[in-house]
Amino acid sequence: MTPGMLERELRALGVRAGGVLLVHTSFRAVRPVDGGPLGLIRALRGAVGPAGTLVMPTMTDGETVFDPRTTPSHGMGITAELFWREPGVVRSGHPGGSFAAEGPEAARICAPQPLSPPHGPDSPVGRVHDLEGQILLLGVGHSENTTLHLAEALAGVPYEVSHPTVIEVDGAPRTVLVAETDHCCRGFNAADAWLRALGLEREGRVGNATARLVGARDLVTVALERLRADPLVFLCAPGAGCEECDLARASVGRSGPGIG
Ligand SMILES: [Zn+2]
Repeated sequence: MTPGMLERELRALGVRAGGVLLVHTSFRAVRPVDGGPLGLIRALRGAVGPAGTLVMPTMTDGETVFDPRTTPSHGMGITAELFWREPGVVRSGHPGGSFAAEGPEAARICAPQPLSPPHGPDSPVGRVHDLEGQILLLGVGHSENTTLHLAEALAGVPYEVSHPTVIEVDGAPRTVLVAETDHCCRGFNAADAWLRALGLEREGRVGNATARLVGARDLVTVALERLRADPLVFLCAPGAGCEECDLARASVGRSGPGIG
């Protein structure tokens, strides 16, 4: 697969030239690509064009002081890890929940943000949403779709879990607790059926990967409606044996009005 072929597939899927595109990807699912992950990045850049902005998650484990110029991402895949290291790419400063962006809206998307919640309205995913960006899931499902945490924050869901995160205070490392709406995120996969039923998700193939494309506004609108009907809709059922979701459930009622 050449970058040019992938670019045509991305356009056929519905990626908008000149728009903001937030990409969650597993290169393993897309390959083989000429040029490897950098070839995929070239295809994505080509699809949004010079007037478009490309965004990827570059989250870190929070175990060391975060330096956007050097700290490797954690569990975000090789494509995102190579993307933030490319010249001209901006990286945001959240010690656990950073994103990288390249293009005209990159500085706005990566502007400073509050520590908590990492993915609220005033965060990279919140700004992609404000800019009416598109979300591309390339070889991954909605369980990787960080923008659903934005919907949780906007809905004011009643659960939150705090993660120890190292930040620098007066030149010295200090561990602080960062509250976020965390759980196993398998429940996010329900968004597929919700979006399909409304015709709001484009599905196709890009390289060898299953690709899903959705507008950030559409996604958040649909998720908010479901969260209003059931604020715990994204958590695994009690007794399902999911430790992470049990932890989130246990926080309900303890954490005040919710993180949003
Ligand atoms: Zn779970």
